[in-house]
Amino acid sequence: MSRSPTLEEIRRAPKVLLHDHLDGGLRPGTVIDLARESGYTGLPTTDEAALRAWFRESADSGSLERYLETFSHTVAVMQTRDALVRVAAECAEDLAADGVVYAEVRYAPEQHISAGLSLEEVIEAVLEGFRAGSQGRDIRVGTLLTAMRHQARSMEIAELAVRYRDVGVAGFDIAGAEAGYPPTRHLGAFEYLQRENAHFTIHAGEGFGLPSIWQAIQWCGADRLGHGVRIIDDIAVGDDGEAKLGRLAAYVRDKRIPLEMCPSSNLQTGVAASIAEHPIGLLRRLNFRVTVNTDNRLMSGTSVSEEFAKLSEAFGYGWEDMQWFTINAMKSAFLPFDERLALINGVIKPGFARLRWQA
Ligand SMILES: [Zn+2]
Repeated sequence: MSRSPTLEEIRRAPKVLLHDHLDGGLRPGTVIDLARESGYTGLPTTDEAALRAWFRESADSGSLERYLETFSHTVAVMQTRDALVRVAAECAEDLAADGVVYAEVRYAPEQHISAGLSLEEVIEAVLEGFRAGSQGRDIRVGTLLTAMRHQARSMEIAELAVRYRDVGVAGFDIAGAEAGYPPTRHLGAFEYLQRENAHFTIHAGEGFGLPSIWQAIQWCGADRLGHGVRIIDDIAVGDDGEAKLGRLAAYVRDKRIPLEMCPSSNLQTGVAASIAEHPIGLLRRLNFRVTVNTDNRLMSGTSVSEEFAKLSEAFGYGWEDMQWFTINAMKSAFLPFDERLALINGVIKPGFARLRWQA
């Protein structure tokens, strides 16, 4: 049992994904097809391999402008009903092929209305795509509706998340640049969701520090934190390795607030210099409720299995750790309790038990 699981073995493990952006996970070939069909001429290249490399390099460049440019292309080709159905269906297929059994994929409906679709038409197209792509595969996909923190449509999007909650929308999220746009700017939307007994996560503590995490939890009432890596700013580790938690870090751990961590994505935005130096190692050791996610599979050239393989290499994680991360994620899903339990006991635990047996 000392041997680390291989990427192929990890692919066969039943995995759970809570933080993945629909516009960050397209197949490069699909971007090219959709650009051709819609007459979009802005792509840097129409060669599939070159485009795949371009996305990765631009996200790696350390320049925010180049990083954001990658999304301007994917969003540009996701403006029609057919394009959204296709992208969502392929997302479900790709995740299922990677061994993901439950996923919550997020996107901002307001970014897909420039060719005339209504917000409702966007939501229904994405739901249809996920239904089609999940059909006959061992995966279940829910969606999270994201509002952009620099825009003023969060209440409208929150209302849509509630309206569509029984037909595939699992919750709500808020994303975009943290600096200058605190989550409290959208307090009305969060209070509305709480009154409606609805679930939401907030991108907080990615590039920005503790105040953002504190606001997301103590002012807005977030169920989960998107990233949340900066919580380590409230943890002091002594020379003896002993960790002392500040009050906010202690609160996050005590209340089992899920951290949707995305290691490879964080390297590209400069949160950590290497996987081995990523705060996930410390947070796992301290038993925070850590989950492992992809963020943007296209821009980071990754998958859930690849994230686990990198973590396994950096921290020596084996099957037990991977099962722990996976059950953490399933416990934190915006899915009814009995359904979460059924997936944990009926799919995740037996799946990992089989792999451990074979190892
Ligand atoms: Zn994200």
